[in-house]
Amino acid sequence: MKYGFDDFIGDSKEAIDKVAAKANNAVSVSKAYAQRAQLRVKLKEKYYELGRVCYNMHATDADESGNMKKLIKEIKLLEAQLEYAEEASGKPKVCAYCGAKNQADNLYCSRCGERLK
Ligand SMILES: [Zn+2]
Repeated sequence: MKYGFDDFIGDSKEAIDKVAAKANNAVSVSKAYAQRAQLRVKLKEKYYELGRVCYNMHATDADESGNMKKLIKEIKLLEAQLEYAEEASGKPKVCAYCGAKNQADNLYCSRCGERLK
């Protein structure tokens, strides 16, 4: 059978669909990565705020227990969201050098810096 123009169009369309699927996948992976990074930044900010409120309470004898409870609640929620997002990102990579568990998309160990396989 002769390879005709319609076959060429069909093959091209398939190739384009494959490229588009790959690109979509890459976008959703980097989106998920950005989302986790954002959660970690938020969490850090909440810990910082909690430390500041705690310091203020002890430095001035102001009653900050209500603020602290509110912040702890927010931290717990963020931690749960981050844990969920990390689980969704795939099986953790265990470092062959130090045994630390790393996120599936990490290239290097977050504890010792060894390249992950
Ligand atoms: Zn390691």
